[in-house]
Amino acid sequence: MYRKSVESDQSNRRNPKPKNAVSSPRSERTIALGSGVRVAYPRPVSDAASAAMRGNRKRDTKPELAVRRLLHARGYRYRVNAPIVLLTVRVRPDIVFRAARVAIFIDGCFWHGCPKHGTQPKSNSHYWSSKIERNIARDRIYDRALRSAGWAVVRIWEHDDPERAADRISARLAKARSLISKTAV
Ligand SMILES: [Zn+2]
Repeated sequence: MYRKSVESDQSNRRNPKPKNAVSSPRSERTIALGSGVRVAYPRPVSDAASAAMRGNRKRDTKPELAVRRLLHARGYRYRVNAPIVLLTVRVRPDIVFRAARVAIFIDGCFWHGCPKHGTQPKSNSHYWSSKIERNIARDRIYDRALRSAGWAVVRIWEHDDPERAADRISARLAKARSLISKTAV
């Protein structure tokens, strides 16, 4: 069964699994894709699309919180969504270790085109594919800009095991810190 409710990505921030989503009729909205391109705001006609839209949260996603809790428990201190201003772009990684220059992104499987779960809903495919392609392209631009400014970038998929993700981050931080101590006077 399809649930034909119109759900905005904002309205479900605090309520990720509504039992009976209240439909809120809106006038035809459009979304800017950049470079002057706008597409009609898609109506999530399938459960998959609704779930994907609910998952489009900017911060404090479940996997993000899980990884942050683990890092905190291991004694690491970090900043959340702190802006890093580079020559060409301004980036807000999900977790920032400024002194060590390590930037962590926890990418949602749908929005960032995970090879395992990044399948697109059939409906509104034009919207989804252009949006996801843009996200992927932007991710690579951010990675290049950060790395060329001396940052290490760790990308974690939403589906990754949080413990293993924390291990990867710990390893990267240890490497970054050993580099720092070698260069410090
Ligand atoms: Zn995935």
